[in-house]
Amino acid sequence: MKALEKSHPKEGLWMVQAPVPEIGPDEVLIKINKTGICGTDVHIWNWDAWAQKTVPVPLITGHEFAGEIVELGRNVTDLAIGQRCSGEGHLIGHHSRQSRAGKFHLDPETRGIGVNEQGAFAQYLALPAFNVVPLPDDISDDIGAILDPLGNAVHTALSFDLVGEDVLITGAGPIGIMAAAVARHAGARHVAITDVNPGRLELAAKVANVRPVNVAHEDLQDVIAELGMRQGFDVGLEMSGNQAALDQMVEALVMGGRIALLGIPPGKSPVDWSRIVFKALTLKGVYGREIFETWYKMIAMLQNGLDVSAVITHRFGVDEFAKGFAAMKSGDSGKVVLDWNQ
Ligand code: NAD
Ligand code: ZN
Repeated sequence: MKALEKSHPKEGLWMVQAPVPEIGPDEVLIKINKTGICGTDVHIWNWDAWAQKTVPVPLITGHEFAGEIVELGRNVTDLAIGQRCSGEGHLIGHHSRQSRAGKFHLDPETRGIGVNEQGAFAQYLALPAFNVVPLPDDISDDIGAILDPLGNAVHTALSFDLVGEDVLITGAGPIGIMAAAVARHAGARHVAITDVNPGRLELAAKVANVRPVNVAHEDLQDVIAELGMRQGFDVGLEMSGNQAALDQMVEALVMGGRIALLGIPPGKSPVDWSRIVFKALTLKGVYGREIFETWYKMIAMLQNGLDVSAVITHRFGVDEFAKGFAAMKSGDSGKVVLDWNQ
């Protein structure tokens, strides 16, 4: 089969011929139809310091996918051949206290497909049946291929009650934009999103119909006044990993405001803790998505009118994967989807 592999410990990914994976008794074989390129895949392509210490070589990359089941392990009785599916890319252990308590997303033994284990950028993927998420007929393969990052957005956005609340999102990358759409869908009052990239702010306004704020030219305090808020935003979703964005968020929140942090800063970043203490803010770090609560919630929202389809800005046949990575690296794309049937 074709597979997009990290074959050498240097910049790039390579399309190789690899054996179709053999499945274990509790696994299924998935024929991949569409995959999404994640920021993580770009880190692996670039072979940055994080990738060098994390990713074994050679490794088939990729973890955002939609496909259909073509083979069942002998213990798998609750899935059927032909079932369209996506799936959770975190392979959890069953030994930790968190796992045994059912908090699978907090299992410290988790291993990621396409990061630690063979991934989904291939014509076929072996996956534990436990990780499979069946796709209803009304959810397309394109959307199925971006459920993983939509899950990050949903899990972060639903960290705090935001019904009737004013929500500030920092970072209009694909995940920030999808979080903005989720916040609106879930019943927030005002939703504003910041970035320094005009193209991404335009995309945010188009996909999520929220107030874009270019913090290179506009002051959030003016936006607070314009929207008629007395003190500031009630809930903050940090989705840029940028220090300045977090500082601005702390200033723009009300006393007692709540912040969920998904963005990953490049290194240690200084925080003005006294501002957080005196504003009595609540901070919550967010990793991944809840297994499988977030999956149920996002599929239900998609079936009830949540529309994030316009966040997909580029589609390529898989042989043009380099164009897809170039679009991601340009910083001007939303989600980029590769078609494995072309
Ligand atoms: P992305 O890099 O595409 O988007 C980040 C955006 O932040 C960019 O559009 C950038 O222009 C913007 N930005 C830069 N400086 C800014 C500033 N001062 N103010 C406002 N915005 C600014 O990332 P993404 O794929 O949308 O992911 C969002 C973040 O979440 C990333 O940091 C990513 O690493 C992280 N992430 C975390 C998890 C997790 O499990 N915690 C999972 C997936 C992604
Ligand atoms: Zn991802």
